[in-house]
This record gives sequence, C-alpha cells and structure tokens, in this order.
Amino acid sequence: MIVIYTNEVTNRLKYVFDFVFIEYFGIQISYQTNGIIKSDDCVISYNIKPEMDLHFGAVDLLFRNDIAPLNPDVFSWKDCIAFFSVKNGAFDFDVFSAIFYLISRYEEYLPFEEDEHGRFPSHNNLLVKHNIEKLPIVEVWLSHLKEIILAKYPNLIFKKRNFSMVSTIDVDHLFSFKGKPLLKNFGGLFKRPKTAIARIKTLFGIDNDPFDTFNWINEVHHAQKTKAKLFFLLNNNSEYDSQINSNSLAFKNKVRNLKMQEFEFAWHPSYCFLSSNAEEEEIEKFIHLFGEKPKETRQHFLRIKYPNYFEKLIQLGVTSDYSLGFSDKNGFRSGISVPHYFFNLEKDTSTSLQIIPFCIADHVDRFYLKRSFEEILNEYNFIVQNINKIDGQLVTLFHNDTFEKDSKGNNWKVLFLKLLSLSNKKSQ
Ligand SMILES: [Zn+2]
Repeated sequence: MIVIYTNEVTNRLKYVFDFVFIEYFGIQISYQTNGIIKSDDCVISYNIKPEMDLHFGAVDLLFRNDIAPLNPDVFSWKDCIAFFSVKNGAFDFDVFSAIFYLISRYEEYLPFEEDEHGRFPSHNNLLVKHNIEKLPIVEVWLSHLKEIILAKYPNLIFKKRNFSMVSTIDVDHLFSFKGKPLLKNFGGLFKRPKTAIARIKTLFGIDNDPFDTFNWINEVHHAQKTKAKLFFLLNNNSEYDSQINSNSLAFKNKVRNLKMQEFEFAWHPSYCFLSSNAEEEEIEKFIHLFGEKPKETRQHFLRIKYPNYFEKLIQLGVTSDYSLGFSDKNGFRSGISVPHYFFNLEKDTSTSLQIIPFCIADHVDRFYLKRSFEEILNEYNFIVQNINKIDGQLVTLFHNDTFEKDSKGNNWKVLFLKLLSLSNKKSQ
C-alpha cells in the first residue's frame, strides 16, 4: 500500500494514479489530502506542502478540468524526452501529468486539420514531432519511477511484467472473388483481365480464393502456440467498406469453417460508423455469424475521434478497442504499449472501456511508406526490442489479403513469420 499525499483528488489525478500504481505496478493506494501522515505505509507526496521524503512536483494539468492548448516544454531526459518540467521533487518533470497528457490523448481533443479520412494526422502527434514514437516512452518513465520508489521503499512488491504479443488480423475483404454477385464477377473479368484466370479457377472451385489465407494464418500461429484475433468488417454499403455481402452463402460457410480453427473473433466497425446508424445492422450480422454480441472492436480505416468514437462503443456494450495506432507509420500513438482505460476529457470521467494500442501494421508499408523488406524488418526488430526492454505488449495489425499468394512487392508471409519468431524469442 502507498499513501498518496496531495492537496486534491480530482478525476484526472485518480485516473492516472490508478493506472500507474494499481493497474501497472499492482500496488494498492489510498489518498490523504491534509493533516499529519500517521501511516506506517509508504508515502508519496504530489503537489503539496509539507513535502514528504519522496516528493513529486506538479504542473496544474491534473487539477484542472478544462481542455486548452498547452504547448508542452519538451526537453531531453535520460535516453528519451520529457515535458512538463518542475523545479522540485524526485523527477525534474511532472511524470503523472505527462502520462495523463499522452494516454488521455489530450492533444486529439484540440482543434486540428483532419487528413483525407477525417483522422488526426500523425505529424500533429507530439511524439512524432520529436521522433520518439517508436519507443513506449510512458513505460520508460515508469521503469525510472519504479527505481526511485524502490530506492526509498525496498520492501514494496511490484507486479511482475512479461513481454507478450497479440496478433490481430483485419478482415476487410474475406474474399477477392467469391461471395460477390454473379454480375460483378462477370464485369470483373473484363475490367481486370489479368486476374481473369484466377477468378474463373476460384469460382469453379479449382483454386482457393486468393484472399482466403486463413489456413496459413492458423497454422503459423498454432506453431508459435498463439492465436490470431480476426476483426470482421460486415458492412458492404459504402465504397470504402467490404465488397462482399456477409449474408452470402460463401461468407457464412467460411465463417463456419473459421470457427472450427483456433481463431478469436471481433468486430471491425465500418467506415461510416460515426456518421451513420449502420451499427445496429452490423451488430445483428455479427451475432448471426458468431452467436454473441461483439465485445472487441477496431475501427476500419482507424477513423477514431475523441471522445465520440469511444463513447459510442461504450453505449454499444464494447469492452475493448484496438484502434489506437498510426495509419502511416509504426509506433506508439499514445507512447505506451500496454492497455489502459479510456478517459473522457470532455465529461471529465474515467470509463471501463479498455484501449489496446497496436504499434506494427502492414498498411504502413502496403499503402504509405512502401519500404524494402530489409528496412521494414529492421524497424520491426527495433520496435520489438524496445518493447522487450520494458516488458511491454506487442500488438500487430495485418490483413488476410496481405498474405495473398500472388501479391506484388514485399513477401509479407516471410516478413510476418520473421516478426512472429522475433516475438516468440522475446517471450521465452
Ligand atoms: Zn479495415
């Protein structure tokens, strides 16, 4: 037990101290806001006088409830960066406010110029601006915090953390040819003559559909004693969504087959999720196919908006969301690799919706950077090493059609296998 001695326990303060001590360190805490400390427990003071032996200075972020531009004063700190400098205390910056700023995604509540899909552009991210987004900086700070607390209270027991990996696959297009209306396939023969033979062979059952890479996905995960989590896009009403009707017989048969393998299933809310009322229909489809309401999500195109997207998920009974990551680069959008709860800054409340950040995604190089095999693998290695150093969690995002046998460019199957084996080595 640690007693937090501070002048006021606000919702922001409770959220970040709960995250740091209860969720991350596995240590119970209590608060004291005045009077003499009598407890024999470990005591940490934060922004209060008289200061205890172990004191942390504060800026005013956790004691306010407004949302205003802040311009954090970023400076070099040990092997990384820090901001919200303070003059007194065990750290020369307010580590609790800095963590809050990053994991609440404070900067995404402020006005910004959206990208072509209405998203917060990565170049506006504070960590990207300082070229540190490949490091889970929050956990680097937390490892220093742990050292400082242990130096003062060596008998405190911290939760043991281990490297872990969660492999997720977005199923935007279950098939390339199958499950589409006859007329569409017929038109496709002339529109894309290069794929005509493959299309005919698939439709006549001679070959597997090129996007049906699930047996391979299942096998490689099974070999590493892990499971892939598949996020299904079930809306085929807009140009950015699926081209296949999930009510088609081919779709239903494939899902029945996948359920017999070692996959986990989750929902991939469609492109227009925030601007339409398509969610009820998508949830109905999910229940019909998988026999239960979806509890886990990732937004198609990562079109998340704070706080509306997450609030809508809470209303729909979703408990975990996997959308937090960049669309055009690998790295940590909130500076952290492990799950944390969504805090609604507008309502100034904590919630029980878990946000599970991802840090490596195939779309970064399929659609944006398009780097060489070696460049991509070097970056995967760098990120996995960074996560391993702080015993964090690697969440990867790939697509079933990325592993298409005839896909051009990088050999994604080989890249993915290398990534799996890198991760497997670290977790042993
Ligand atoms: Zn998608």
